[in-house]
Amino acid sequence: MTTVATTCPYCGVGCGVQARVAPGADVEIKGDADHPANLGRLCSKGSALAETIWMEDRLLSPRIGGADAGWDEALQLVADRLADTIAEHGPDSVAFYVSGQLLTEDYYIANKLMKGFIGSGNIDTNSRLCMASSVAGHKRAFGTDTVPGLYTDLEEADLVVLVGSNLAWCHPVLYQRLAAAKAARPELKVVTIDPRRTATADLADMHLGLAPGTDVALFNGLLEHLHVSAEVDSDYVANHVTGFDAALEAACSDDPCVTGLSLEELDAFYSLWAGTQKVVTVYSQGVNQSSTGTDKVNAILNCHLATGRIGKPGMGPFSVTGQPNAMGGREVGGLANMLACHLDIENAAHRDAVRTFWDAPHLTETPGLKAVDMFRAVADGRIKAIWIAHTNPVVSMPEADAVKAALEACDFVVVSDITAATDTARLADVLLPATAWGEKDGTVTNSERCISRQRAFLPVPDGPRPDWQIMAQVARRMGFARAFDYATPVEIFREHAALSGVAGQFGKDFDISAMSGITDSEYDTLKPTRWPVTAIRTGGRFFGDGQYFTPNGKARMLPLLNHLPAAMPDDDYPFVLNTGRVRDHWHTMTRTAKSPRLSAHLAEPFVELHPDDAAALDLKPADLARVTSPDGGAILRVRVTDTVQKGQIFAPMHWTGETASAGRIDALVAAVTDPISGQPESKAAVAQVARFEARAFAFALSAEEPSTDAPYWAKARARGGWRMELAWEEPPTDWISAARAIFNLPDTAEPVTMSDPRRGLQRLAFIDGDRLVAALFVAPEPVALSRQFLVGQLQGEADLTLLSGQPGADRPDPGAIVCSCFEIGANTIRRAIAEQGLVTVDAIGEALRAGTNCGSCRPEIRTLIDAAGTPKLAAE
Ligand code: SF4
Repeated sequence: MTTVATTCPYCGVGCGVQARVAPGADVEIKGDADHPANLGRLCSKGSALAETIWMEDRLLSPRIGGADAGWDEALQLVADRLADTIAEHGPDSVAFYVSGQLLTEDYYIANKLMKGFIGSGNIDTNSRLCMASSVAGHKRAFGTDTVPGLYTDLEEADLVVLVGSNLAWCHPVLYQRLAAAKAARPELKVVTIDPRRTATADLADMHLGLAPGTDVALFNGLLEHLHVSAEVDSDYVANHVTGFDAALEAACSDDPCVTGLSLEELDAFYSLWAGTQKVVTVYSQGVNQSSTGTDKVNAILNCHLATGRIGKPGMGPFSVTGQPNAMGGREVGGLANMLACHLDIENAAHRDAVRTFWDAPHLTETPGLKAVDMFRAVADGRIKAIWIAHTNPVVSMPEADAVKAALEACDFVVVSDITAATDTARLADVLLPATAWGEKDGTVTNSERCISRQRAFLPVPDGPRPDWQIMAQVARRMGFARAFDYATPVEIFREHAALSGVAGQFGKDFDISAMSGITDSEYDTLKPTRWPVTAIRTGGRFFGDGQYFTPNGKARMLPLLNHLPAAMPDDDYPFVLNTGRVRDHWHTMTRTAKSPRLSAHLAEPFVELHPDDAAALDLKPADLARVTSPDGGAILRVRVTDTVQKGQIFAPMHWTGETASAGRIDALVAAVTDPISGQPESKAAVAQVARFEARAFAFALSAEEPSTDAPYWAKARARGGWRMELAWEEPPTDWISAARAIFNLPDTAEPVTMSDPRRGLQRLAFIDGDRLVAALFVAPEPVALSRQFLVGQLQGEADLTLLSGQPGADRPDPGAIVCSCFEIGANTIRRAIAEQGLVTVDAIGEALRAGTNCGSCRPEIRTLIDAAGTPKLAAE
């Protein structure tokens, strides 16, 4: 076995991974104990990485118009079409829409080609949807896009405030580090601020369920409280901050009661924050994804600046990014309004420096179009050619149906990706096969500015190429051969590092110039390294010395007033729709959906409603609901929970046209953006909810991938095949024929059937030899069966007792999967709680192993313990 140290390709925690490859290409994944981000831990997604690297669905050859083509032909076509479009319509008629999945070296080349040589600012990234408001807030306050602190600050703090951050599910290893720190030092207080009571609240001493879009008012109230309680650090403000008086005056005129929190809650939070010196405020998409996201960021920064609680151990504001290389994208200038290395497009001296460095006479003079405006320009024909790399805007952009229509109408769409099976790739004129995680070489930067190597541990299959190479090859064919003459990613890294030295001369924070002479072997063996990396310093915190990157060296506090979301609920759309993530899936599931165990936790798209709202709509758990906004609609499984507030609903953003009939939740989100950052308001759309009136529901199992035109379907991988949920308003009359069509079975496949006409039940199983190849369970109500038991029947010898839908008394129903590492279900945990009187998560772990590997399920185990009323059980 060979072991390769690389980096997880999912969230911005940026965990180190040890990939062990056996000669037969079996891969084992473990956390890297030497990586400072995770110290050996991995979450459920990271732990299942080996299940996501199949070759199935891989795009192995370029395709033109859907037909396989050679690289030469495809690259020349892309280069010619871009060049012709630019010649006829100007450089702003083309665009690149790229991704935080790219490595820094890929990103650097894409940005250099568009901004330096095509001469347009029209390159933006899906990171715009994730953390653009943090970038804008940092620049307004600090003069640069600087994350001041380190992950260890969360462990060293006495108070960690999590604002709009479901850390337990979205940055699980960071959550685990915080949980471990709190276990070791219970006096460390945790506050969660979120309209939803998420799994993260399990750790919290205080949860503040504020109204959506009221964070500015909350932190304005805190600033006023800090002033009134004499907790403002006057010396720090005098020496290191401008704008305090105006910020305070604005704060005092705002009304924190708009948060909907009680005065007691506000006072408790304000007193705790004011009275705790070592406080870290972590914020994420719940803050950023808002029409006032930048103001929310600055409202948080204002409080840290007023108290000087920044840049020192255990204190500071901390933006955690969603994607593995969102930070790398920021460093190379992958956002439309940034130049490379944190330099500013609007600054003539910065432009001159980059123009000279790149020898790029056509360097753009103006920012390009940010993501939402970019796709509007595609829709109205200003952009006539777009190249989309490793992202799925037909699913993830707001007003996703309009984005789909725009791409369908666009003259020329290029998509580079690892698969053709995405909603966006299906619209491409040219598909370019790129190398996948496991085959890629380069660097990524995580949320604490730590640059890590992603290293290839699998051979590149015949066909795909690295993204930097594809982009450079197109650039060369467009006539820019000298500027894009790279043979390896380390050559790009050296150039990027050298350019950062130029930025450093302008007093910019991102300076890794001491790595500009890195040798090939030093790059190969590069350990995780926090920037900056200059002749005089490596890593560490920023701003501990009170020096900022503004012209006068002082941080800026800003006068802010709360503004409610752009659209508010009304009679037609009475709910606020909050979108977000689930624990075990990543973005649009192109990788995590390959893993049966990741798909087992939550296997179909859903909407969460408060019990009172569900009752008013006559919706019960497991019903289906039509959720509609002014921009689009979805059909989703109903989950009833008081973790959402009355009048609010939550739905995850992962499901696509590949995995569900109507689950693309961003189709419902309005393309309303923050005026400064351009980030869309993905947390506060408006929506209505109504029952989806189905006359038949079904649960299906299949050894092969099923397909259907039923109005509702959602499919997920299971061990040995697939599972699927279906529903019809007008059900088929012949279920055997319907089943044959769904499962694509030959006439020779004989069904075994069981029916109960009185109850409207139909059950069919198709056996081939001794193997179950397909089964369909139909009912007039949402199908209530032991799904985990049934899914297990896809493996091993077929047992026709499966038609009962329930395991025998000797095989207890495990229930819905909670611990995906060991595939332990909720019923198994409930039984252990009841029968063994277990009252702690650790005790459950000892008895069942649940929660003892990645730990991502520990909050849900705690919820099951709480729901069981453990003190009584313990006493029995
Ligand atoms: Fe990957 Fe999980 Fe670590 Fe994020 S927390 S980098 S998803 S292992």
